[in-house]
Amino acid sequence: MSEEKKPFLGNPQETIAVLQKYHFTFQKKFGQNFLIDPHVLEKIIRAAEITKEDYVLEIGPGIGTMTQYLSCAAGKVCAVEIDRNLIPILEDTLNGFENVTVLNEDILKVDIGELARRQNGGRPIKVVANLPYYITTPIIMGLLESHAPVASMTVMVQKEVAARMQAAPGTKDYGALSLAVQYYAEPYIAANVPPNCFMPRPGVGSAVIRLTLHKRPPVEVKDEALLFGIIRASFNQRRKTLVNGLKNDQVLDFSREEIEEAAAACGLPLAIRGETLSLKQFAALSNALGNIRDKRKK
Ligand code: SAM
Repeated sequence: MSEEKKPFLGNPQETIAVLQKYHFTFQKKFGQNFLIDPHVLEKIIRAAEITKEDYVLEIGPGIGTMTQYLSCAAGKVCAVEIDRNLIPILEDTLNGFENVTVLNEDILKVDIGELARRQNGGRPIKVVANLPYYITTPIIMGLLESHAPVASMTVMVQKEVAARMQAAPGTKDYGALSLAVQYYAEPYIAANVPPNCFMPRPGVGSAVIRLTLHKRPPVEVKDEALLFGIIRASFNQRRKTLVNGLKNDQVLDFSREEIEEAAAACGLPLAIRGETLSLKQFAALSNALGNIRDKRKK
């Protein structure tokens, strides 16, 4: 039996050696900032609580640094990398890490539900990534909205984005992203990571956030699309009162009287601003407006 390989990447010297060996040039358009700090890598693995029972999806393995750590902690790892110049490098650095499969694909085009069904018998998978920052929100929201079997996502994101995902009502960071993320998952910021832990250094601070997916949403909502439509409209018009913000929205199409009726039914003052409402209050408002819309149809 072959001996299990240990991670050897994750420090500046080895990273530079690999990059030079393959004459690799960073592609800005792919958000390439590779991790070069073993403490940060260990923190990510710990925060993700990976065991040998787990099937892990890594988004954007780069030269395979975190992939090596994941390989040692998990049962199986699937790493999806868009940059084909990295594929020969990954074949080299992951040689001997037997439980890793690399796919040369765009993660936004991968059907993750199908992957979990095919590779993990439909059991929930764990997603771990140092995300390419230019597509953080589409990746996270795409995954959450797809209802794919995912137990948790432990991801490195821009510090400000992590703060927005975890923000509470009435704070400056609170917005549509906070509500959408908190509807599907419980966020927890596990670490702040400075730019010097990456090569090249990003122009922004980073944070590791773990999103543990709810088995069931924390609020009962009859129409998810209506809930998210109301949230979007409320934050599009941040300075306006809730009633004015919703009344002006073309897509929602509720009259002032209908919105006031729904707000009253939920015990919300008419002068309240959307940005102070909790997820529970948005859910109640969405159910009340849904009832009014249903009555209208009859
Ligand atoms: N995991 C590596 C590390 O921590 O050192 C690299 C992280 S780097 C921030 C982001 C990685 O995602 C890069 O390797 C980049 O090429 C890859 N990437 C960018 N867009 C992608 C996409 N749409 N699908 C899959 N991978 C992508």
